[in-house]
Amino acid sequence: MAILRIILVPFAVATLLTLTCAQQSSTSTHEPVLDVTSMDRSVDPCVDFFAYSCGGWIKNNPIPPDQSSWDTYSKMQDENLARLRGILEEASLPNASRNAVTQKIGDYYASCMDEKAVDAKGADPLKPGLERIAKLNSKTDIADVAASMIDQNVLFRFDSIQDFRDANQVIADADQGGLGLPDRDYYTKDDAKSQELRKAYVAHVEKMFELLGDRPDTAAAEAQTVMRIETALAKGSMTRVERRDPKALDHKMTGAELEKLSPEFQWQVYFTKVGMPSLGSLNVTAPNFFKAMSEQLNSESLADWKTYLRWHLVHADAPFLSSAFVNENFAFYGKTLRGQQEIQPRWKRCTRGVDGDLGEALGQAYVDKYFSHEAKQQALKMVKEIEAAMGQDIQSLPWMSAPTKQQALVKLHAVANKIGYPDKWRDYSKLEIVRGDELGNVDRSRQFEFNRQLAKIGKPVDRGEWDMTPPTVNAYYNPQMNDINFPAGVLQPPAFDPMSDAAPNYGDTGGTIGHELPHGFDDEGRQFDAQGNLRDWWTLDDAKEFQKRADCISSQYSNYTIIDDIKINGKLTLGEDVADLGGLLLAYMAWQQDTKSEKLEPIDGLTPDQRFFVGYGQSWCGQTRDETKRLRATVDPHSPEKYRTNGVVSNMPEFQQAFHCKAGSPMVNRNRCRVW
Ligand SMILES: [Zn+2]
Repeated sequence: MAILRIILVPFAVATLLTLTCAQQSSTSTHEPVLDVTSMDRSVDPCVDFFAYSCGGWIKNNPIPPDQSSWDTYSKMQDENLARLRGILEEASLPNASRNAVTQKIGDYYASCMDEKAVDAKGADPLKPGLERIAKLNSKTDIADVAASMIDQNVLFRFDSIQDFRDANQVIADADQGGLGLPDRDYYTKDDAKSQELRKAYVAHVEKMFELLGDRPDTAAAEAQTVMRIETALAKGSMTRVERRDPKALDHKMTGAELEKLSPEFQWQVYFTKVGMPSLGSLNVTAPNFFKAMSEQLNSESLADWKTYLRWHLVHADAPFLSSAFVNENFAFYGKTLRGQQEIQPRWKRCTRGVDGDLGEALGQAYVDKYFSHEAKQQALKMVKEIEAAMGQDIQSLPWMSAPTKQQALVKLHAVANKIGYPDKWRDYSKLEIVRGDELGNVDRSRQFEFNRQLAKIGKPVDRGEWDMTPPTVNAYYNPQMNDINFPAGVLQPPAFDPMSDAAPNYGDTGGTIGHELPHGFDDEGRQFDAQGNLRDWWTLDDAKEFQKRADCISSQYSNYTIIDDIKINGKLTLGEDVADLGGLLLAYMAWQQDTKSEKLEPIDGLTPDQRFFVGYGQSWCGQTRDETKRLRATVDPHSPEKYRTNGVVSNMPEFQQAFHCKAGSPMVNRNRCRVW
């Protein structure tokens, strides 16, 4: 799934797009979509367009202590959290008049906010889990315990996915997992920073064992055990770049074949325990991982596996335990890993928790209050214009043959547009939320979600489903659904402002809507057909021509430095970089079409074309802490904001004309790249 942008907080928040607000008046105080005070006009736009568009913003918006990065979209997300807080505080009042939905979100939130009660329980809520692990008598029982720790990232992930070869069917899927650091590369890289981080990680694991009551010397040895097991699992794991090729993830096999691949794990016990005793076949995303896992099960002792399981239990549950656990967890994952100075206030963490576990219940209340019918219609209008632009673009491509164009258009016309929120809300009636039982609520929510995913197996795909909650400030394209999704949370100012002239709206919101469509045609998305099947619909020559153009982008971005000597991994960010460039070109075409009968005048000393591009540049205003830059360099498939701006405009002659940039300027790419 290709999302617009990731923010590395407990769940991904990101960016993008659009519009709105009929209810908003001209006296509202939100920032305009093009804010001249956010610019730095002392910078030459042909030298560094990002600094020109965003220099003022960066000066005026220091990163708040509770954030690891700060940009226009995280600001929107933060404002959205405050709105959600209002909804939750009202719903959590003991004598509020509530319906079934507000009861759940209100009681979940109240339980989370009651820090005194959570603190008083200390590590007690972990007792049943710890006892289950302590009682393990043999390695063959590990499968049984793993099945009771479904969302604690033990060993691997088990879930349902759309069948790569038949997008209408849902099948079971087993995938790599089981690590405490954010990526396998953290265990394998040898540079000084990586070694330093591994040391800090081991020290953190040790402290967590001490919080469970282990003696310091025991805890130190246990932390080494965790590191050793996780390193072996990491080495068996696929890299993020390998995982960008869907064909490399498609390995359908029978249960018996999986048992043969990974004989030391009792699969039948696991499947029976999770309620699928007669599972016939499944996809195994990363076969080598399961081989490695099996070898580790064989070579490590039962005692060491118990240590590994205890770590993952306390690690996954730490955010919902007493302050000692919460603070130690933040010290490593927030401060050391991301550079965040302070933990987010409790209300933000609890609000995110409700959004994560009861997102469509909270989303229902959010949409009622903050998302208008007009906003939905305006967003849909812009989506249609940009789709039309993409249709024209495909037809005019010089490098693609007629048969492939024909197929591309079929796919484009089949893209489903999902705007705001799902047509049918998720039913949470079977999920029990108990006021005062914080970790219990979290555990039951995890189980509910796990069961919901597994219940889909063997059934036709529900194409109305969403992967993001309505309040999310982000957007995504899903190649197996062939749909683009713009949650209500992102359809608001300042990304789009009906009071503004059209140019910056198209540069900002148009660019972000435009970004999602080419994902269906990037190096990953192009391998899926109109229905979402992994099926090659390209002629050989067209595929070669595509690859040539994609390589141009990949080489361009691989030259950009993120921090120190770390460059962008252009193979990791390729899909997003292709989407960024295609997205802005489409938005430009749609804007020209929409305003072709108007006479546009300069405003604030900027021509209409300049306003279009500054609108785009300002959608990416932001800054990031150094630690988070390093983290993103490894895990984020998106390029840093600066290059999402400069990398794109330097490929566009329309930009160079708008700012009269001379050949040889940094914002004029000598070897101009273009795919879509
Ligand atoms: Zn994207």
